Amino acid sequence: MLRRVLIANRGEIAVRVIRACRELGIETVAVYSEADRDSLHVRLADKAACIGPPQATRSYLNAGSLIGAAMYVKADGIHPGYGFLAENAAFSDECAAAGVKFVGPTGHAIRRMADKAVARAVAAEAGVPTVPGSDGKAVDADGLAAVAGKIGYPVLIKAAAGGGGRGMMLAETPDRLSRNALSAQAEAQAAFGDSSIYLEKYIGNARHVEVQVLGDGRGGVVHVGERDCSMQRRHQKLVEEGPCPVIAPALRKGLHEAAVSLAASVDYEGAGTVEFLVDLDADAFYFIEMNTRIQVEHPVTEMLTGVDLVREQLLVAGGEGLSLRQKDVKLRGHAIECRVNAEDGARNFMPSPGTLSAYVAPGGPGVRVDSHCYAGYAVPPYYDSMIAKVVVWAPDRAQAIDRMRAALAGYVIDGIPSTVPFHLSLLDSEAFRTNAFNTQWLEKNIERVMPQENTAA
Ligand code: ADP
Repeated sequence: MLRRVLIANRGEIAVRVIRACRELGIETVAVYSEADRDSLHVRLADKAACIGPPQATRSYLNAGSLIGAAMYVKADGIHPGYGFLAENAAFSDECAAAGVKFVGPTGHAIRRMADKAVARAVAAEAGVPTVPGSDGKAVDADGLAAVAGKIGYPVLIKAAAGGGGRGMMLAETPDRLSRNALSAQAEAQAAFGDSSIYLEKYIGNARHVEVQVLGDGRGGVVHVGERDCSMQRRHQKLVEEGPCPVIAPALRKGLHEAAVSLAASVDYEGAGTVEFLVDLDADAFYFIEMNTRIQVEHPVTEMLTGVDLVREQLLVAGGEGLSLRQKDVKLRGHAIECRVNAEDGARNFMPSPGTLSAYVAPGGPGVRVDSHCYAGYAVPPYYDSMIAKVVVWAPDRAQAIDRMRAALAGYVIDGIPSTVPFHLSLLDSEAFRTNAFNTQWLEKNIERVMPQENTAA
């Protein structure tokens, strides 16, 4: 069992990890940048260390100072949360070299999945269907045109190092291919320091469905059901739910089995997510990527199954192994998560950091709020704008929607705009209620869901 864990992250996920550690009797050490002195994770941890200035590159992304801090406080584990260094293979290796257990997969497993072009090949080897596209990396213009011609337009140009929807460009016709490929490469270079790109067939009518897995690091893998994350803006998830309400049992079973065989093929350790696109026109599914970490939307699965995913991560990292087998995983009812961001939905989702003059989170049966916020807390401008996740559980989808409506309607967030009004409007939309949407729907209907303020007037 781990004895003392340093949490190399901030915000709600740091709070989440501290809670799981506390239940297991593991001591916690928070780290914080100068901008996060007043964050809840600093107050809740047993110990806290300031690791640098607000800029993430000089604090939460500074591997050397994080490992140094872990050694100084004699931590025997580092939990990376999500984002920052969570999917950094070198960081996982450096932790191991320093004798501090990285709570997550080995550097080797991360490397097999981090480059999305390589991950496609690993998936294909494991017998998992991938979106028709290029094999390995496609970089030069001639190669691109040949592959695109073979798979057929429209094609999606994607960054091999991609994440957060960046470095992704659609080419609907051949004349757009090279120009859009150059833009994708430039964006990928700026965002990831790696301009490698690859091609996939563009699946126009799809749902994003992902399978939660847990691995023991020795080839033993269980799946913990799937989540549907098709409500997206700029390829970023805004609402997640489970189970996926639009797939037949045979397809669901196929997804679960594919995710398990892929994770087992890399001796996956800890919590991971295998992401797929389900082509609604073809009744088929394709692997798109694996996230080798705990995800933002993990509470959806926890509400559905009662499994504490962070606890399982800590147990595996501490050598205890998984506490559950596949037959122990039982899904019940329906769960939905809304990501509440400090953004102004009516002004093109402009980030809106500032002080929460009043703050009261919703509660009641089947309602969970993961957040680091409290009344008087100042949301800093330096990091991503998520301030809370509201997650509800109910016996069925319709009741879960009603419960989410009630929870959000009673959420007191004063002093700064938030995306609560956007979510309330989305929950009321016919498309959401009747499941008549795909991954494109929100982007195309955003004006209807959230009329934009005319700032020119
Ligand atoms: P990232 O790692 O940047 O999040 P992903 O590969 O996970 O990128 O894809 C993010 C989203 O982009 C998907 O959920 C989906 O909406 C869209 N997308 C990705 N690949 C395709 C594709 N081949 N066809 C259509 N949409 C896609």
